[in-house]
Amino acid sequence: MTQAQVGVIGGSGLYEIEGISDIERVDIDTPFGRPSDQIVVGTLSGVRVAFLPRHGRGHRISPSELPAQANVWAMKMLGVTHLLSISAVGSLREEFRPRDIVIPDQILDRTKGVRPATFFGNGVVVHIAFAEPYCPELRQIVFEAASQTAAAQEIGVRVHNGGTMVVMEGPQFSTKAESYFHRQIGGDLIGMTALPEAKLAREAELCYTTVAMVTDYDCWHESEESVTVEMVVQNLLANVDVAKRILKTALPRIASAPRACGCDRALADAIITAREAIPPERAKTLKLLLGKYLG
Ligand SMILES: [Zn+2]
Repeated sequence: MTQAQVGVIGGSGLYEIEGISDIERVDIDTPFGRPSDQIVVGTLSGVRVAFLPRHGRGHRISPSELPAQANVWAMKMLGVTHLLSISAVGSLREEFRPRDIVIPDQILDRTKGVRPATFFGNGVVVHIAFAEPYCPELRQIVFEAASQTAAAQEIGVRVHNGGTMVVMEGPQFSTKAESYFHRQIGGDLIGMTALPEAKLAREAELCYTTVAMVTDYDCWHESEESVTVEMVVQNLLANVDVAKRILKTALPRIASAPRACGCDRALADAIITAREAIPPERAKTLKLLLGKYLG
C-alpha cells in the first residue's frame, strides 16, 4: 500500500488541497468500516501526505455520524505518524476574534456518548493517558509555522498558542444559556469534531494537533448577531486559504523534527488486560496497534 508520513483531516470548507503532486486516491476498508471518503495520498512541500475531508466531499456526514475510528485507522494503515486536524470553531473569548487561528491545548467533552470513542473494549481494556490531548511537540511546530505564515501574509490574522476546546454534540449550534455555560466551565473555543478524533489518534500512537479557525463568536457575544451559517461560511472560506499556506510551511518541519514526545509509545503502559487474556480474534483485529506489544 502507498505510504504517507503526515495525515491531514480537513474540516468544514477544506475539501481539497491544491498543489499536491504524485496523487493517488485510495479506497481503504478498516475493521471499523470505511473512512469519510477516499484518501488523497501525494507529495506537498516535499512531504508525503494523506488528505481526508472529514465530512466527505460535498459535506455529507454530520459530526455525530463521522466514522472517526475508520478515519484514524486508515491514516495509521497508510503509515502516518503525525495527524493534523483543520477545524472550524466558534470563539468563547473576546480575544479569539473571527478569522483568528488557535492551536488549542485542552479539550472539554460535551458530546452525548453516542460516538464510538475507542478502538478497544470487547476483551481488551486500555486506559490511555490523555491529560495532554494534543501532542505538545507537534503543537509547537504548527504554532510557529502558523504564526510565521500569518505574519508573512499581513492580513491581520492572529495566531494564539493554547486554548480549551469544548466539543459539543450538535448538529445545532448552542443556545445562549449553553454558550454562557461553556464560557463558565473554562471553554475558549467550541466545535463538534475534536472528539473522539483526538482520543483515537492517541490510541493509534499518532502525534495529533488541531489548527482551529475561528468563524464566529458563538452566541454569547452581545454585539454579534446570532450565528448564521452564511456568516460562518464566509469567515471559513477566508481562512481556508491561510490554513493551506500554514500546511505548506509546517509540513517539512514536521517531517524533519525529532520525535521525542512519546506519542509513538502511548500504548506501552496503557494495556491493562493480561496479554494471555486478550481474545485471539481481538488481537488479530487490532494487530495494527497491538502487534508490537503482543509480540
Ligand atoms: Zn507527539
